Amino acid sequence: MLVDKAIARLLPVVPKPVVQIFSARYIAGSTLADAVGVVRDLNGRGMAATIDVLGEEITREDEARAIARAYRDVFAEIERERLDSNVSVKLTALGLKLSYELCKENVRDVLAQGNFVRIDMEDASTTDDTLRLYRELRTEGHENVGVVLQAYLRRTLDDVRALADLKPNVRLCKGIYVEPPSIAYADADSIRTSFVQCMDALLASGAYVAAATHDERLIRAALDRHVPEFQMLLGVREDRARELVAAGRRLRVYVPFGEHWYGYSLRRLQENPAMAGTIARATVGRMLRLSLRTGGTSRARGGRGGAPSRRADTPPAPRA
Ligand code: FAD
Repeated sequence: MLVDKAIARLLPVVPKPVVQIFSARYIAGSTLADAVGVVRDLNGRGMAATIDVLGEEITREDEARAIARAYRDVFAEIERERLDSNVSVKLTALGLKLSYELCKENVRDVLAQGNFVRIDMEDASTTDDTLRLYRELRTEGHENVGVVLQAYLRRTLDDVRALADLKPNVRLCKGIYVEPPSIAYADADSIRTSFVQCMDALLASGAYVAAATHDERLIRAALDRHVPEFQMLLGVREDRARELVAAGRRLRVYVPFGEHWYGYSLRRLQENPAMAGTIARATVGRMLRLSLRTGGTSRARGGRGGAPSRRADTPPAPRA
C-alpha cells in the first residue's frame, strides 16, 4: 500500500499511452457524441448527469472562449436529446488564470443558456476568486449556478457561514488537489469530520447540498441527514450508485469528455492507489518490450492525443 502510494506520486512520469489505457473508465471519450451516449445510458438507469468539457490545461484566450462555445454545444445537445443533465465548469478552463474578467464573461456566456451550471473548485490558488465570482453572479440575479466546497480545506466551515445568506447550491466533496498542511487537513479522519461538519452547517443554513463522495461512511452520514442529492464520478463505485438509485435517492454522475483528458486522468488514478501498482507494472513491461524491440535505444513517446475511450477491453481496475 505504501509502495502504491509512492508510485501514485510518480504517475506524471508514466508514458501517456499507459495513463490513457487505465483512465478510460473515468472519461466518456473525446467527443460530445461520446458524452451524450454515456449520459443517455445513465439516464436510462435512473441517474442524472453533469457534463464536464475537459479543458483545464488551456493557456490562451481563444482556447478559453472555445471551451465556453463547447458548453453551448453541450446545452444544445442536452436539450435536443432531452437529457437529464446539467454541466460542470472549471474556471481555469474558462480563462481564470489569464484574466478574471475574461473568465467571468465566459461563465456568463455559459449561464445564458439557461440550464444549471456547477462551478467546480480547483486548487487553493483559485478558491477566493471562485467564491467571489459565485457571489457576484448570484448578486447579479443568476439562480442557475452552484459551487463546490472542499472539506479538506481548513477554511471551508467559515466559507459555509460566509455563503449562508445566498442559500447556495453546493456540491460538497473532500477535495483532490495537493495542498500544504497549513491550509488543508491531511488525515482521512479529520477530512471526514470536516465533511460532516460542513454538511450539517450547509443543511442548517438552508443550502441545497449534493454529497459528492464514494466513501461509505460519508454516504451513510448523508443518508442519515436526507441530503437531496448524491454525486459520483464516472467509473467509480457504479454498484453503489445503482443501490442508491434503487433506494429512491437522486444520484448524479460526473461525466467528463474532451481532448484535454490528461490532468483529470492523473488525478483519478492518483486517487486509486491500488491502480498505481498495476500501472507501474504495465509501464515497466511496456518499456522492457520497447527496449527489447529496439535494442535498448528507444524511449517511450507521448500519447496519440485523443481522449481515452471507454472500451470493453479496458483492464479491470483493482479497488483501492
Ligand atoms: P475516497 O476515500 O477517496 O474514496 C472512497 C472509496 O471510493 C475508495 O476506497 C475507493 O473504493 C473508491 N474510489 C474513490 N476514488 C476512486 C478512483 N479514482 N478509482 C477507483 N475507486 C475510487 N474535487 C475537487 O477538489 N473539486 C471538485 O470540484 C470536485 N468535484 C467532484 C465531483 C464529483 C461528482 C465527485 C464524486 C468528486 C469530486 N471531486 C472534486 C473529487 C473529490 O474531492 C474526491 O477527491 C473524490 O471524490 C474521492 O473522495 P471520496 O469522498 O470518494 O473518498
